[in-house]
Amino acid sequence: MTATKIAIVGVGKIARDQHIPSITRNGAFELSATVSRHSGVDGVENFATIEELLAGRPDVGAVALCMPPQARFDAAWTAIKAGRHVLLEKPPGATVAEVEALIAAARDEGVALFATWHSRYAASVPAAKAWLAKRQVQSARITWKEDVRRWHPGQEWIWQPGGLGVFDPGINALSILTEILPQPVRVTAAELQFPDGRDAPIAAQLQFAGASGETVSADFDWRQTGPQTWNIEIETNDGQLKLSSGGAEMTIDGKVMMQEADSEYDGIYARFAQLVAETSIDVDLAPLVHVADAFMLGRRIVVDAFEM
Ligand code: NAP
Repeated sequence: MTATKIAIVGVGKIARDQHIPSITRNGAFELSATVSRHSGVDGVENFATIEELLAGRPDVGAVALCMPPQARFDAAWTAIKAGRHVLLEKPPGATVAEVEALIAAARDEGVALFATWHSRYAASVPAAKAWLAKRQVQSARITWKEDVRRWHPGQEWIWQPGGLGVFDPGINALSILTEILPQPVRVTAAELQFPDGRDAPIAAQLQFAGASGETVSADFDWRQTGPQTWNIEIETNDGQLKLSSGGAEMTIDGKVMMQEADSEYDGIYARFAQLVAETSIDVDLAPLVHVADAFMLGRRIVVDAFEM
């Protein structure tokens, strides 16, 4: 099988930390070009715009869009209309409707479209889903607290409209929750804390409810220094399941069942190879809908100004 030539669009932190190494390890893809306004990758042809890439490299069959969400739709639309397969970093867009438009366009053009949720590829997520499938969920508690200065230095886009603020990491927790819960839940209340002068929240508390009386709470905070917390605890009729370190570790009633190093992006590129081979679409909007609902329903509180 010949490898699909792929281009990365937006050569920032996640492209360098994860996409490039995982593409290199995956024989189904060959990194053949980049689109970068400021940098690029040694030995790989770079273009200033996606239009120039698409016009100049008809041999590039797929693009991985690694820019911030506010810029994703135009690039995705242009690539789909040019007949290229498209991988979207999370969140797949800045609005729900724009991602729905991409699904329709990909269907019309007969290309693969993959809205990646990298946290769903954490080691313990499939095992957690299988364990919960046989039990009744009573409640769940998400605690997702990290230090924005440590993880997002210099990223102004996260504070701008559409950048999602603390939901940028928080949506990762919601992508796991929506994958592993046997039944869906809906947002019933939210409180969003906006630093004075900022357009995106630094913290948020969400409440959810499900059809069988199950409740979920989520506590997202970007002001946590010291140890970082990415936990989901789920109480069932038959024990407690806990995912920690973003899903790298799973315990049941306190006993460690699984503990594995991060290989999320290798899983993402294996899945993308499958979608390209089948020309299929894999887009689940559930995590983005929860965030949109939190913005729609949530009380807004202005808190102290926050400087990066
Ligand atoms: P980043 O370091 O700021 O990089 C984003 C890159 O996108 C920039 O370096 C820039 O690359 C390009 N870009 C294109 N249009 C842009 C615009 N209007 N504003 C700013 N940059 C623009 O961000 P990142 O951390 O890689 O995050 C990118 C996406 O990946 C986000 O959706 C984020 O949620 C997701 N993600 C990030 C992480 C993480 O750990 N950082 C983890 C998982 C997912 P050029 O200079 O090359 O044009």
